[in-house]
Amino acid sequence: MSYRAPVEEIAFTLNQVAGLRKAMERGEAGDLTPDLLDAILDEAGKFAAGQLAPLNQIGDTQGSTLVDGAVRTPDGWKDVYRQWAEAGWGGLAAPAEFGGQELPIAVAVAVSEIWNSACLAFSLGPVLTFGAVEAIAAHATPQLKQAYLDKLVSGEWMATMNLTEPQAGSDLSAMRTKAVPQGDGSYLISGTKIFISYGDHDLTDNIVHLVLARLPGAPPGTRGISLFLVPKRMVGPDGSPGEANDVKVAGVEHKLGIHASPTCVMSFGEEHGAIGYLVGEENKGLACMFTMMNNARLNVGIQGVAIAERAYQQALAYALERRQGRAPGAPGEDAANGMSVIAEHPDVRRMLLTMRAKTQAARAICYMTAAAIDRGTRAHAEGEREDARLLANLLTPVAKAFSTDIGVEVASIGIQVHGGMGYVEETGAAQHLRDARITPIYEGTNGIQAMDLVGRKLPQRGGEHVREFIEALGAIADRAMAVNDPSFGRMGYRLSEAVKALDTATDWMLQTLQSEDASPTLASAAPYLKLFGLTAGGAFLADGACMLAGEMTNGEARARGRIATARHFCENLLIEAEGLQRSVVRGADAVLGTSLEQLAV
Ligand SMILES: Cc1cc2nc3c(=O)[nH]c(=O)nc-3n(C[C@H](O)[C@H](O)[C@H](O)COP(=O)(O)OP(=O)(O)OC[C@H]3O[C@@H](n4cnc5c(N)ncnc54)[C@H](O)[C@@H]3O)c2cc1C
Repeated sequence: MSYRAPVEEIAFTLNQVAGLRKAMERGEAGDLTPDLLDAILDEAGKFAAGQLAPLNQIGDTQGSTLVDGAVRTPDGWKDVYRQWAEAGWGGLAAPAEFGGQELPIAVAVAVSEIWNSACLAFSLGPVLTFGAVEAIAAHATPQLKQAYLDKLVSGEWMATMNLTEPQAGSDLSAMRTKAVPQGDGSYLISGTKIFISYGDHDLTDNIVHLVLARLPGAPPGTRGISLFLVPKRMVGPDGSPGEANDVKVAGVEHKLGIHASPTCVMSFGEEHGAIGYLVGEENKGLACMFTMMNNARLNVGIQGVAIAERAYQQALAYALERRQGRAPGAPGEDAANGMSVIAEHPDVRRMLLTMRAKTQAARAICYMTAAAIDRGTRAHAEGEREDARLLANLLTPVAKAFSTDIGVEVASIGIQVHGGMGYVEETGAAQHLRDARITPIYEGTNGIQAMDLVGRKLPQRGGEHVREFIEALGAIADRAMAVNDPSFGRMGYRLSEAVKALDTATDWMLQTLQSEDASPTLASAAPYLKLFGLTAGGAFLADGACMLAGEMTNGEARARGRIATARHFCENLLIEAEGLQRSVVRGADAVLGTSLEQLAV
């Protein structure tokens, strides 16, 4: 099934909902102009549809394999990667000093959605490289930046992120990989990392591993973790890769989805120690890695949006062709053999609308997060930059967890729309669900994101910041209620109720966070994040709908489509908010009152 980038939808969400057009007008988007943005999205859409999307099924069936100690990617992968890198796509948001275009992160995130829709397994590699570029640019020495950044930005080399070890997954304090100083500024790294995406491959002739490790005598726990840059091949004085470093691939995992993305067991320093270089300060590695992880979290959130969009396009195309039964009210002459296309059936239409509404809501949250990250560095006034940084912090766990849950859910509905043809592999609908399933797990599981939201992000500025955010959502509900257009239905009213539910749940959270026992807030964290995501997503869709109200000129059908989608979201999906609020405020007891013994009987 082909893919067509929803360029118009992406541009609307970026420009109008996330405020990129205003940022351009204020001179806070560098050299970006509306025409340049359109050209970038169009070109990305063409490359994704023409080159990347055809790789998706080949990648799934062939997978990446380990041959004689090296990873081989599927047919066509290398050639497309070379074209992708040569077109300069790796440097959109990277610093100009190292060959990047320094465009807003919001643009890079939107383009990343397009790559990930076309082929998620391919795009994970660049996602990790973008994060590494950011971490190296922010924390490495000038010498390391000089030696590595140009090559990473141009896509000549790729990068990885090495955190996970067999005993250290969500809890990195249990990490054991060692780093011993050599006295010449370098370190010898030894240890095993598991689940390392793109740990090895044949796309580039060098790979830059960012590795977390402990120095001798480092404090225990996360306070004793440092970050190292470990090249696959040592870099000579002329900048070209030379002899192999002591880094080996011990295995490639067989997994549910993203088969072409090599998930490697990496062995560092098995023979004499892998040579690495410190990035940032000793024992401050986790903070440096967080630079990369926040970027990566948003980019994983966008993977959820991307897979949902792809699944929706596929389900819609199928539902407009497949004929079964006779839809109520369908005129006989429109139906071949008296049968309607399944999209005519109210239940299938509901599924399609739900897929579309959830995808658009998650997209809006991700783009708003990216826009807040941009304002955090680009806004003219320091006060505004500070507010935007807090907003980006608040929204990042929501963007990651809410959007990836939606990716899985929408891909699953996509299979349902196909009926039995969705469950067999040939349509490709099943691949989307298999590929989507990793996204709520990696880059910090969605459970960990929910804990981050309630434990670290809600208490920002003593809770004042989140209250201001909720107030802004309430103002959108007021605007939607004031629109005098029957196509809005009860959109604003349902949104207003959801905002009240979020407000009540937030009060409970902030109050309960004061108590010594964190268990109730942790037990309620996941429903709270969902309530937050639903309400914010509904508000952002309603905001877009308000901007389009009364638009009767060109694009009327699109405007009506968007208003109908926002209305469906608020009237049929957002009504879950009140139930979630009850679960947050009253549900923890049932969870905490159940013992492990009771679970096991
Ligand atoms: C395909 C794939 C690619 C990956 N790519 C990379 C990569 O490139 N680099 C890298 O470093 N890692 C990578 N990972 C690892 C990934 O980030 C981890 O799997 C993830 O962080 C979860 O760790 P874990 O698997 O050890 O699960 P665990 O930490 O064992 O978690 C299991 C369950 O317990 C829950 N849990 C754990 N601790 C808590 C807690 N304190 N409170 C509440 N719930 C908790 C989790 O939410 C989860 O539901 C990848 C994994 C996969 C499968």
